[in-house]
Order: sequence, then structure tokens, then C-alpha cells
Amino acid sequence: MLGGGAGEAMGEWSSVKPKRIWLWPFRGWLKWRYRHAVALPQELLVIRRPARFVAILLLLAAPLSAQSWCAPHRADTGFVAFTGVSLWDGTGAETRRGTTILIKGERITAVFKDGSQALPAGTAVRPFTGKYVIPGLIDAHVHVGSDVSGEDARVRADRRLCRALLGGITAARDMAGDTRAIASMQRDAKVGDIASPDLYFASLWAGPAFFSDPRTAQASAGEAPGSMPGMRAIDSTTDLRQAVAEARGTGATAIKLYAALSPELVVAATAEAHRQRLLVWAHASMAQVSPLQMTRAGVDVLSHGPRVARELPAAVYDTLVKDTTLSLRGRFDTPTFDTLFAEMRRRGTMMEPTLFIYMMDGRERLGAMAAELTRRANARGVMIVAGTDSLGSGDEGAWTLPNLHEELRLLVREAGLSTAGALAASTRNAARAVGAESERGTVEPGKLADFVVLDADPLADISNTATVRQVVKRGAVYAGGPTLPR
Ligand SMILES: [Zn+2]
Repeated sequence: MLGGGAGEAMGEWSSVKPKRIWLWPFRGWLKWRYRHAVALPQELLVIRRPARFVAILLLLAAPLSAQSWCAPHRADTGFVAFTGVSLWDGTGAETRRGTTILIKGERITAVFKDGSQALPAGTAVRPFTGKYVIPGLIDAHVHVGSDVSGEDARVRADRRLCRALLGGITAARDMAGDTRAIASMQRDAKVGDIASPDLYFASLWAGPAFFSDPRTAQASAGEAPGSMPGMRAIDSTTDLRQAVAEARGTGATAIKLYAALSPELVVAATAEAHRQRLLVWAHASMAQVSPLQMTRAGVDVLSHGPRVARELPAAVYDTLVKDTTLSLRGRFDTPTFDTLFAEMRRRGTMMEPTLFIYMMDGRERLGAMAAELTRRANARGVMIVAGTDSLGSGDEGAWTLPNLHEELRLLVREAGLSTAGALAASTRNAARAVGAESERGTVEPGKLADFVVLDADPLADISNTATVRQVVKRGAVYAGGPTLPR
């Protein structure tokens, strides 16, 4: 390492032994700059000094731009081994120290104790002794393509997606927007044309009244709101079989049922979506449909914690929200919610509380209700899924962590999940929420090589998910973002 201290930080290029360079006054900055593979082409490190030194100086003089950080990477074609890591693989197993993860292309080929198996000839070794590895994080509630001509213009969306990836997020569930744009991002993310989490998205279906909402006009620009396969108005006359088939054609993973549908339509739409192998996502309640009815209709994921409280009579719910002197602790430990949570557990219905968005919006009372409901649901065996409803900033300028890290802290501190429970909510459970549990969500042979290398143990303190050192998505290796903790 520059000015001494080589070692772990050079896990990037294990075959190269960088020699001391005497730029001591700039040591910190140089160390930071040099450490990040993104900005320094690998070829530079095999050319000899002083040529290498001059070349590196030239590169250091180049302005630091998000461009270099967000340049898309490809998976190596050969074997790559991450060695010496403490692996929490997401399967429910304990953390295993001294573990090697062997990948080839976009897949994990083997996971074993360091040295217990010979590495295939030509394997590139990336030593990460003492570092921690968890499966790639999945934010199960984002919107990256709602307002494509404005807030979600492609340049902003790409920045937001890149920061999410470099912050450890390897997949995200988009909960409705302009599917024409989202499908394009999904494609670019999947093939590696942009540095981005992989995306799963929904075709949104709502009652006709919803399509006076200006957001639907943004997401349907160029077409009549409510008329598109990716965002459709439905009522009792809709040919659901045709509508689901068209939704599938957009590349959607699910139908998101929304706003003012009748209980009968929720049942019928869910059944048809499932018949054609789409998932069904929804808010935990609608104006005419209670959480228990949503569950019994077969909806796969119920979003927004406070909406679970809609199992209460409206007057009781309103009092609970308005009278902040009423304690929430234990408020949902009642037969009503025991019945609901037992049914959710029995059916495998997932609950996605989105604590972050309530806390961030200044709706702390709703956030506190969501947390208390999550605590109870979790205790009753309901599968909890982590989602933010706000992936992270797409603004120019300073880098920020994706918001999922805060959601994880809230799940632990406010909703009483264990650190392992919060990690499962953002990995294995979230993978199940997008129907991708056979592909991602755990670090196991055969699955996609999606994982995060952390400096510190997230099981000891959930805040340590923020210590992102490297991110691997589909076998492509990225350095953790520039302002992330080191
Ligand atoms: Zn949302």
C-alpha cells in the first residue's frame, strides 16, 4: 500500500505487490484513491516502475467523477476465489470463519473452508482475511421509474441505482412506475450495461378512479392513463386473463393491486395472476379490503406496516393514530391480530413494513405503529421483508448510502428483530418476495454470485452493514462507494 500498510486493502490484486511510494503528505487521499479498483485499470499494475508510477500519477490528476465509480464491470470469465472471509450465507447457518467462496462467471461454484479444496488452475485469488460476507442486499420497495421525464430521468435514475449497488444492494423490487422505462433499466442492469442492482417490477392495476392521480399520467406519458399493460385500470368488466397476459409481456414479475378495488376483484385478479405464474403485491389493506381479506385472497406480499392495523375498526384505528398519548406497546397482542398473523404464517404471506419511509416523512406515529405490528408479526412467525419505499438519492454531488441500511437498523431497534432476522428480511425473504429464491438471497453453490464484503460483523451490530468494502453482483466486482465508512 502507498506509504506502507499493504495488505488487506489490496485484496483487489493479490498477484501484485505494490512497492512503497513516497507521497507521504497525501497518503490518506492517495490510499483511498489507489485502493479503489474502479478508477485504476488493472493493466497499470503490471507495468514496471517508473512507468507505472507516472501512469498512476496521471490518473490521480484526473477529476474524480461518479463516472469512474459507476462504470459497469463484467464478471471474470475464469474462476475467482474470495478467501478468508467470515461468511453468513443466509441459509440459517451460523457464520463460518475462514471460508472460501469460489465463483465462475456470474455463478457461485463452491463454498468451503479455506484450503480444504484445491483451487482450479488459474483461479484469481482475492484475499479478504477477517472480512465479513453476507448475501447481496435486496431493497424490496423502490420506485425508480415513476416520473421518467422528471425526478426519474435516466441520468438521475442511473446515479441512484449505481449508489445503491455500491452500497451493497444487488437487487430491488420496483413497486410501480412506467414499466417501459423500468424494463429498459432492468435489461441494462441484468446484462451489465449499467452499474445497478437487478430489478423486478410490477404492472399496477387499480380502480378507474385512481387514474386521475397525476402520478399515473407521468407513468403513462404518451398513452391514456389506465390503458397500458404496465399500468391498467380494471373493473368487473375487465378480461383478467388477457390483462394478465399483457402484463407478463412487459417483463413484470407481479401484479400490484392498488386503490379502491372490490374484495371480489382482488380475489379474481390474484387467482388469475397466480394461474399465469405472476406474483401479487399490494398494500396491506385497501379502502374496501382488510388485511385478512387480502391474505385470504392469496396476495403474496403485504406492504406498509400501518395498513396492517386496518384490521381494527376505523374509529379505533383513527384514535390510535391521533392520540399519541396512547401507548402502542402490546396494542396488537390481541385475538384479532393473532388470527391475521396465523393466517399469514400458514399461507406464507409476507409483510413488508417500510419503516424508513414513515420515519423519514415525519410520520413517526405511523412508523411506531408499523414497528409494533412488525414486532408482533415477527414473533408470530410471519415472514418479514425489508423495503424502504425510497431507494436513495439520485442527486448530483455527495454520495450517500442507500436507505435500506437505515431500514435494517429500524427493524432491529424499533421492531425488535434480531440482527440475523433483519439480514434475512433483506436477503432470503426479499428474494422470495420477488420469486427469485432459487437464484439469489443466499450464498450457495449454483446461485448467482451476489454478495457483499463488509469490514465489520453485521450480526454484532446491524449498523455494520454500512461498512461496505466490495460488492459482487452476477460475478462482477465493485468497490464500495467512496464515502462509505472505512
Ligand atoms: Zn411505494
